[in-house]
Amino acid sequence: MSAAPGAATPRLSRFRRIMIKVGSSLLVDPAHGAVKRDWLATLADDVAALHRDGADVLIVSSGAIALGRSVLGLAPGPLKLEDSQAAAAVGQIALARTWSEALGGRRLSAGQILITFADTEERRRYLNARATIERLIDLRAVPVINENDSVATAEIRYGDNDRLAARVATMASADLLILLSDVAGLYTAPPADDPYAELIPVVAKITPEIEAMAGGAGSGLSRGGMRTKIEAAKIATTGGTHMAIADGRVPHPVSRIRDGAPCTWFLTGSNPITARKKWIAGSLEARGALTIDAGALSAIQSGKSLLPAGVKKVEGNFARGDCVLIRDERGIEIGRGLVNYDAEDAVKIAGRNSRDIEAVLGTPGRAAILHRDDMVLKGD
Ligand code: GLU
Repeated sequence: MSAAPGAATPRLSRFRRIMIKVGSSLLVDPAHGAVKRDWLATLADDVAALHRDGADVLIVSSGAIALGRSVLGLAPGPLKLEDSQAAAAVGQIALARTWSEALGGRRLSAGQILITFADTEERRRYLNARATIERLIDLRAVPVINENDSVATAEIRYGDNDRLAARVATMASADLLILLSDVAGLYTAPPADDPYAELIPVVAKITPEIEAMAGGAGSGLSRGGMRTKIEAAKIATTGGTHMAIADGRVPHPVSRIRDGAPCTWFLTGSNPITARKKWIAGSLEARGALTIDAGALSAIQSGKSLLPAGVKKVEGNFARGDCVLIRDERGIEIGRGLVNYDAEDAVKIAGRNSRDIEAVLGTPGRAAILHRDDMVLKGD
């Protein structure tokens, strides 16, 4: 099996961008439908400590439905879709205020992002959601993310925040995702059924045996059981993000991981940028091409984004988010990337300074036509 009991667990201090997913049952007291404020204060202290040490921190927080259902007086038990959407609409307001106050009390700004499935799966929208998250992080704010449950319908929703967190973590190039949960990690068998079940400290590869250890669904308030956590681990590690499942029921749950509390690590040999580049290089059909001048060529070869000023020719009928080829002045393909503009707009801004984009297109746009993280050059 690929559980590696003897393998070293990584130190928290090595991670630069950490996403922390908080489950509903940790944040909301099921008896009263109220936020567990004392516990949240300890988590907010942990977030502030990571942030102070220079890490970027992102939160994925569940709890909208759990908070809203108590406000609306909905009966316990599974909710119909309309009821969970109504509960989310009410509860998300309380949830956002809760985070804003908890982080604000530690001089951190919280920025709410509500995500739907399409925001992570359609390349065009993916670029938008990622750019907003990136900008918040640049401004040293803490993105607080949840699924946009009040508009997401059954076929087009994640439904659980474990997988959503994993997808957004890879999209935001987080190097670590911590799933705070109501169990301490993955056990060799569900611990409630088997007194001899042992915690697995490191999973180097998710094998069918590992999946078999996950057992069934989760607790009353949370959607995700161990099975969705393993699914999340697959998404995260394939996308180059390490993941940990750790006990969130304790005060200071993140500092405890730093201090060596038992948890389960899912490690990856990749990182988010390399994983994304592999995906761009391997699996996308190009819809057009940008021919660039020598100055732009040396800029992108030294790791910079491609600006419209260096584009000499635009070919093809592509949409924002599509894959396009990059060619040098001799017409030789030197790489490919996800383009930030539709073909029609790309033609208009080609050769122009990024400062002129607003004047040319009538709306402000991104400075780069291809962002360096969305570009892969031959020989990369
Ligand atoms: N997005 C849901 C909420 O905020 C939670 C989903 C989950 O429990 O994973 O209530």
